[in-house]
Amino acid sequence: MSTTQVKAYGTQAADADLKEIIIKRRELTPKDVEIDILYCGVCHSDLHTARNDWQNTVYPAVPGHEIVGKVTNVGDSVTKYKVGDTVAVGCLVDSCRACSSCKDDLEQYCENGWTGTYNGPDKHLEGQQTYGGYSQKVVVDEHFVLKVPENLDLAAVAPVLCAGITTWSPLRHWNVKEGSKVAVVGLGGLGHMAIKLAKGLGAEVFLFSRSPEKKQDAKELGCDAVIISTDENQMEAVAGKFDVIIDTVPYEHDLNPYIATLHHSGTLVLVGFLGPLESILNTAPMVMGRKAISGSLIGGIAETQELLDFCGEKNIVSDIEMIDIQNINEAYERMLKSDVKYRFVIDMKSLN
Ligand code: NAP
Ligand code: ZN
Ligand code: ZN
Repeated sequence: MSTTQVKAYGTQAADADLKEIIIKRRELTPKDVEIDILYCGVCHSDLHTARNDWQNTVYPAVPGHEIVGKVTNVGDSVTKYKVGDTVAVGCLVDSCRACSSCKDDLEQYCENGWTGTYNGPDKHLEGQQTYGGYSQKVVVDEHFVLKVPENLDLAAVAPVLCAGITTWSPLRHWNVKEGSKVAVVGLGGLGHMAIKLAKGLGAEVFLFSRSPEKKQDAKELGCDAVIISTDENQMEAVAGKFDVIIDTVPYEHDLNPYIATLHHSGTLVLVGFLGPLESILNTAPMVMGRKAISGSLIGGIAETQELLDFCGEKNIVSDIEMIDIQNINEAYERMLKSDVKYRFVIDMKSLN
């Protein structure tokens, strides 16, 4: 298949900085949309991938799955988009479209393997991995392209494509509504979107944080109260309270103190940490209170469009700090220190 070359920012090794590289994008197939990337959000998963935290990175790696841009070209059979449209691409760019998960609009659980926007085996360019949004252009099948509501700020909407959908999907699956009591663990990119979205659904929303200095921000984001997770008295004060807990912490941590704060039949949903837990889990509080621990992965395409439309209606976007691509390595260091309010978004003009 013929290809075109575009500029991107990527890394060649787990311990190397990201720098400018040249990557290939496929020529349009009939169902493809070509997008000029305007903005790309910076997710903690970008950092996990660049640094091979999950032991599955193929180099060179080009992260970025919170993409907003303009359509510059469409294939002959594209029906949903035309040149000039403002569109978005999230974490998914392919799936089999035929298995029961795909048919249920849950492409992220595709039984034949979904293709991530980066670091997935590219179905079109054999032997190559997919390259993400830290680049000038991307070519994506129209099924995986989303419409962006006209009223939203284009840079600030980018994080909805991952931080937003990853928290929206469990909020919807566990039926969060007016009167639900929701707690979010960790105020970062995902955490701050979880607060806004749960509030938007009418829930009472609480934050568990290690960082007392984030208290004021959390209130401004709509949180009803903040619990400092290292303070035993504050943890005891919310024992048995929550219907749903969305846990966004990226690294191994003890879940037992959070289970204690679930109401009977409540669920703690892990969206952050991926891997074996070191601290031993006491099942007694789960059995005695029909409490559950679950996980959740991003969200399907239809659900992502539902979320974008909801954000359009409620005027919800991310709180962002805009950076140039040349500052991405410094941004990763700051993200590791939780020093970002609350999502970095790259102005992709800086790559041209
Ligand atoms: P982030 O912006 O870095 O936020 C993570 C927050 O967790 C921090 O702000 C901090 O909040 C808390 N935290 C960080 N390190 C911690 C530690 N060692 N112990 C306890 N708390 C800690 O990250 P993000 O972009 O929101 O991503 C969060 C995680 O979700 C990442 O692991 C990412 O890979 C994952 N993710 C998963 C999916 C999915 O589909 N499941 C999708 C996207 C991202 P406080 O200072 O308030 O405590
Ligand atoms: Zn992400
Ligand atoms: Zn499938």
